[in-house]
Amino acid sequence: LPVLAIVGRPNVGKSSLVNRIIGRREAVVEDKPGVTRDRVQYEATWNGRRFQIVDTGGWELDVFGLDAMVAAQAEVGIENADAVLFVVDATVGSTDADEALVKLVRKSGKPVVLCANKVDGLSGEADAAMLWSLGLGEPYCVSALHGRGSGDLLDAILAKLPPAPEQRFGGEAVGGPRRVALIGRPNVGKSSLLNKVAKEDRVVVNEVAGTTRDPVDELIELGGKTWKFIDTAGIRRRVHQTAGADFYASLRTAAALEKAEVAVVLIDASETLAEQDTRIISMAVESGRAVVVAYNKWDQIDEERRYYLEREIETDLVQVQWAPRVNVSALTGRHMEKLVPAIETALEGWETRIPTARLNAFLGELVAAHPHPVRGGKQPRILFGTQAGAKPPRFVLFASGFIEAGYRRFVERRLREEFGFVGTPISISVRVRE
Ligand code: GDP
Repeated sequence: LPVLAIVGRPNVGKSSLVNRIIGRREAVVEDKPGVTRDRVQYEATWNGRRFQIVDTGGWELDVFGLDAMVAAQAEVGIENADAVLFVVDATVGSTDADEALVKLVRKSGKPVVLCANKVDGLSGEADAAMLWSLGLGEPYCVSALHGRGSGDLLDAILAKLPPAPEQRFGGEAVGGPRRVALIGRPNVGKSSLLNKVAKEDRVVVNEVAGTTRDPVDELIELGGKTWKFIDTAGIRRRVHQTAGADFYASLRTAAALEKAEVAVVLIDASETLAEQDTRIISMAVESGRAVVVAYNKWDQIDEERRYYLEREIETDLVQVQWAPRVNVSALTGRHMEKLVPAIETALEGWETRIPTARLNAFLGELVAAHPHPVRGGKQPRILFGTQAGAKPPRFVLFASGFIEAGYRRFVERRLREEFGFVGTPISISVRVRE
C-alpha cells in the first residue's frame, strides 16, 4: 500500500486528524515527543483507494535544537513514505520547530501536503494564509475536531500518492493465506513433498491456470491452516534437462520468491551439497523472504553421510544459520508434521517489530559493555536506532562515526541473540551523524 507519513509538532492535532481520516475513534495516542514513542500505523480508505498512514510522533525543539532521536525517528518515517502530510496549528502559526521540520521534509524530496488544522472560523482562514510562508504551497484548511475541510485535504493527499499496486496475485489481502515458495534444484523431491502434503491433507482449490505455461498456485490445508503454494505447476511438471534449463529454473525460482512470504529450500540430504543448492539458498536470502531449510530423503542417510552433512551445515550453510531446519522424508512421511511449525516460526521472526524503547535500551547496554574500538584517537559510538520496517526486519542505527564491518556483525549477532529473528534475514544500516 502507498504510505503517507504524517508529521507535525505535538498538539497540532495529528491524532484527531488521523481519527478523522480513518473514520473511527482508534487509540488516540498521547502526542508526546520522545524516543520511546513509536511510529504508529493505520490503514485508511478514501474514494475506494487504500493507503497507510504512519504517524511519526510529535516534534519539538529542545534547548539543543531538534531532539536528535525524535528527528531520526521522523526521518526514517518520512523516508519510508510516498508522501508527507505536514500538519500545522493555524492558531499558533509556524514556529522554529515547524521550520526545522520543513527542512527535513524538503531534504527527503517527497511530495508534501500542508494542512492548517484548527481552522474553525473565518479568522482561522486568515491565520492559515500566513502559512504560505513555509514554502510548501497551499495550506489546506481543516478543523479535525468538526470535520471541516477533510474531504479536500484527502483529495489533495491522494493526488500525491502513487496508485495502490494492482492485486496481481489473488489472496494477497491482509489476513489471506500465507504464501510459500517450495524451491530447490531438480530431483531433491519438491514434487514428492508437495504430493505428500497435498495428499495427506487436502488441496482446497486448484486455481485456474490460463495455459499450461502459467504458474499455478495451490491452496493447501496444513496444520489447520490454508497455505498458498506458489507455482506448483513448475514443481509438478517434469523438467527435462535441456540446454538452458538451469537458467529457466532459476528464473522460475526468482519469480516464485517474488510472490512468496516464506521460502522452503529443499535439499537432498543423501547427496553432497551442490553449488546449485547454495545458489538457491543465496537467492532465498537475498529475496528478503523468511527461510526454512528442509533436508529431504532423510530415510537414505547413514552414519557416514550424517557426519559429512553436519560439517556441510557448519560451513556451506553459514549464510542461513538462523533458519529453522527440518529433516524430512517425502517417501516415508518422516517429520512432515514439523514443517508447518518451522514455517510459522520463520514467518513470526520475519514480521517482528521491536519497540523503539526496547531496542534503545538494548543498544545502550550493548554499547556500554562492548564499545567500538578506538580508531584514530576517536571512538565511534552507536547513539540510537530505530526499526525502519519489517518483513524482513530492517534497522537504521545512528552513530557518531564510522562503524567497522566487524562491529556491525557483532551488533547483528547480539540483536539476534536478544530478539530471536529465527528464520529471517535482517538488515542493519548505519548512518553517521556529525
Ligand atoms: P523434484 O524434481 O524436486 O520435484 O523431485 P521429485 O519429487 O521428482 O523427486 C526426485 C526423485 O527423488 C524421485 O525418484 C523421488 O521418488 C525421489 N524422492 C523424493 N523424496 C524422497 C525421499 O524422501 N526419500 C527417497 N528415498 N527418495 C525420494
